[in-house]
Amino acid sequence: MLAPSALAIPEHLTPHDLVTYFRCPHEMELVHALHTQRLTGVLGPVRTPLDVIPLHQSPLFSPPLGEIVVNEGRLDLFDDDDRLVYEDPEEDDLPVLFPPERVQMDPRFAGGHSTFVDVSWGLAGRPDLVVRRADGSLFPLEYKETHLFGGYHQAHGRLFDTIQAIAECRLVEATFGQRPAFGVVYYGDESGGGVHEGWVQIPYAEPEQRWLKLAMDQIRQDRTRAPVPALRNCGSCEPNADGHCRFAAARYEGPHHRAAFLASRRP
Ligand code: SF4
Repeated sequence: MLAPSALAIPEHLTPHDLVTYFRCPHEMELVHALHTQRLTGVLGPVRTPLDVIPLHQSPLFSPPLGEIVVNEGRLDLFDDDDRLVYEDPEEDDLPVLFPPERVQMDPRFAGGHSTFVDVSWGLAGRPDLVVRRADGSLFPLEYKETHLFGGYHQAHGRLFDTIQAIAECRLVEATFGQRPAFGVVYYGDESGGGVHEGWVQIPYAEPEQRWLKLAMDQIRQDRTRAPVPALRNCGSCEPNADGHCRFAAARYEGPHHRAAFLASRRP
């Protein structure tokens, strides 16, 4: 008699994986391998073949962008009855957006549980903040210390933030059992003193949810995880900092290289 076959467990992914894959699939592969090394002392498997042909851009298609709302200026929370119900405890440089009387941490995150886990989709991660509005609706908020880029819909790299916001909406949906209508990315412009502060509202409806599911399927089915060597990618690629990539097109210049590179090309 044949033993019952075990259900295949889908590859675990995070919002950061989606962002990294959208930049360079090989970078995502190396990040996973190095994570395994930190846990076990042994470098994890890397599926990229040695004779892979590098790509000019990631094979991941863009998320829907048509309904995004871009707002210049400070993010004023929408209503006096809005409440902060989650804050990532591992981020210690988040802006204080709520006075203490409007902070009501959700009991799901008591006892040190801070990671959102979507078991059915195999997705896990932590938004920076989650806000519950007066009408009971929820939205995740991601804080970026950089400035709001001019021409958000142009090729300036903020697609990465859109992807992160969509994935975090899914995590909120899976954790709280209700779908956020949107996620927010807030650009604090720390180095500019807030002069170019702004925030972007990214919808989360059927098209975005469908895109996310297809994107995760595509990543899991990719047996090559090809490199995308480019100055804009390799200068801020952390595996490249330690010399782990044999395809690198540039030296590692630090975590903020990409934002600086893109800002230098801003029209
Ligand atoms: S160094 Fe460049 S090509 Fe290599 S993994 Fe990093 S981003 Fe990809």
